[in-house]
Amino acid sequence: MRAYVRVLKQNRLKITPRRKAVIGIFMKCGLNLSPYDVYAKLKKKLPKLGLPTVYRILAELKDSGILVQSLSDDRLLRYALCTLPHQHHHHFTCRKCNRMEEVDFCTFKAVSRFIENRLNAKVETHQLQIGGLCSKCK
Ligand SMILES: [Zn+2]
Ligand SMILES: [Zn+2]
Ligand SMILES: [Zn+2]
Repeated sequence: MRAYVRVLKQNRLKITPRRKAVIGIFMKCGLNLSPYDVYAKLKKKLPKLGLPTVYRILAELKDSGILVQSLSDDRLLRYALCTLPHQHHHHFTCRKCNRMEEVDFCTFKAVSRFIENRLNAKVETHQLQIGGLCSKCK
């Protein structure tokens, strides 16, 4: 949790019990969760917390790099905790159990070079959504 508190501070976000509770949920389960999942899990602990607030907190944590966002097969936005917030990498999500795993590897440089030569453009960003079945589900 301490590392995430540091990231919150770097992003000038206050360390509120709500933000900490949301991070705590992700730390405990290690899964990709929809905003509603997070809301349902926090309902008992924080009965005053509404779904719109959960959406806002998730967006803030995503912007600061603590959470990563993905689109699941059912077109729902889901979030998971990223344990390598300061380096470029990708994520693998299991479509069966929703586990998210870090993929500390990227070969996009070659693709970038190809695109830059072909389109005479400058590539600045890329996103890769990697999904399938994890070691336990395959
Ligand atoms: Zn990550
Ligand atoms: Zn799985
Ligand atoms: Zn990459």
